[in-house]
Amino acid sequence: MDWQYAPAPESAALANLKPTYRPFVDGEFVDGGGEPLKTLNPATEEVLAEVGTASPEDVDRAVAAARRAYEQVWGPMPGTERAKYLYRIARVVAERARELAVLETLDNGKPIRESRDVDVPTASAHLFHHAGWADKLGYAGLGPDPRPVGVVGAVIPWNFPLLMAAWKIGPALACGNTIVLKPAETTPLTALVLAEIAADAGLPPGVLNVLPGAGDVGAAVVGHDGLDKVAFTGSTDVGKEIQRRLAGTGRRLTLELGGKAANIVYDDAPLDQAVDGVVDGIFFNQGHVCCAGSRLLVQESIEQEFMELLRARIETLRVGDPLDKNTDVGAINSRPQLDKIVDLAAAGDAEGAQRWTSSCPLPERGLFFPPTVFSGVEQTMRVAREEIFGPVLSVLTFRTPDEAIAKANNTPYGLSAGIWTEKGSKALWTSQRVRAGVVWTNTFNRFDPTAPFGGYRESGFGREGGRVGLEAYLDA
Ligand code: NDP
Repeated sequence: MDWQYAPAPESAALANLKPTYRPFVDGEFVDGGGEPLKTLNPATEEVLAEVGTASPEDVDRAVAAARRAYEQVWGPMPGTERAKYLYRIARVVAERARELAVLETLDNGKPIRESRDVDVPTASAHLFHHAGWADKLGYAGLGPDPRPVGVVGAVIPWNFPLLMAAWKIGPALACGNTIVLKPAETTPLTALVLAEIAADAGLPPGVLNVLPGAGDVGAAVVGHDGLDKVAFTGSTDVGKEIQRRLAGTGRRLTLELGGKAANIVYDDAPLDQAVDGVVDGIFFNQGHVCCAGSRLLVQESIEQEFMELLRARIETLRVGDPLDKNTDVGAINSRPQLDKIVDLAAAGDAEGAQRWTSSCPLPERGLFFPPTVFSGVEQTMRVAREEIFGPVLSVLTFRTPDEAIAKANNTPYGLSAGIWTEKGSKALWTSQRVRAGVVWTNTFNRFDPTAPFGGYRESGFGREGGRVGLEAYLDA
């Protein structure tokens, strides 16, 4: 039977979109001194809103406000009191979940199913989790009286705008620090609504400052000498630049950068589950995921069977209107990102990999790229080495577990990995040998605020989340 899904669009009106948004400094929305930017809906390329951006003077003001708030209010405040604000913010995020999900989908292009079921609930969970730590820091195994580090500068990317904001704000504030946050140029809206929520929750002025703008604002924030710590999530190139800039300053730094994760499927794996895990690993959030399972390593003896199942499953993915609740793969966040995906896929063709593309029709307008699989991939090819950050899977094969490990680790990155096997001992053996900060077994892309997340090598350093993640925000 040919099943057709009737459209099930979520209403864009739920986003309460405003024509203009402004930077949030010292507890108020202010006219930023920078050139305003227009944020687009990548599914239509229409302008969603005009957003004021920060000038270098605004960055100075925000850092000074954060310093004042740290010294006079937030730093000295008992953890039990700080927790109340964080709980309030987490609760309001949950209460306004539907609005935030629609806004995120409009600004980012991700399917509403994902913003509704993953981004917003996980952001709220992250804030709740850290609210719980605020009065228990002495029991975190970091000494009896760990102190905050001071003023934090945080720069975040466009792939999980609200969630990344929560990942930075939650631990920073719970530990008694104040923060200056720069959201990505193409996705500033939910971070600014989060600022509004914080203000409504009565968060003292200066504790949280949100400065929209492009990379130059990010550079002004992370390079500011009024900071005590920098937390960056984004590309490896920018991460390296920041590390060079901070070297010798004594300021603390955590970097969460790119990845090229191996998703290893052994011949004894439950194949249907593994197929779904591989699909989720690379097509979740259009593949705009630092920990995406972008390299499938499948055991040679099951390659043919597995690839047939995989292609059949990918054929069922619906690419289209991100606001439609039936959509599996939404829009690519920006034109430059789409160009990058197109270029890297062309490099796959040129280097001799075989391209297979889902026959799912693409919308006539907007920024879309079809789910794509490259097989016959060699380890030296660009599609095996570089982060494509799009819905493109590269397939390699292996014969023995040792070969799987060698290939999995043959990457400059080390953020995540997946293992699919029925055998617990094999899963443990593999996970002990894969050099990746996060290893999932018989699942993929699970995010939990209690579990630390972070990488090795060019994927960065430092951990975010859980008890371990507190370390980066405390002087123990
Ligand atoms: P960037 O690293 O450029 O962007 C991340 C954040 O850093 C954004 O807020 C950006 O601002 C800001 N930024 C840019 N330049 C500087 C600078 N010199 N100093 C401080 N902050 C800066 O990533 P892109 O968005 O350009 O994406 C490029 C590639 O990076 C992607 O194709 C993907 O491969 C990878 N990437 C990886 C991510 C991950 O989570 N690992 C996340 C995002 C991208 P603005 O957006 O305004 O330029």
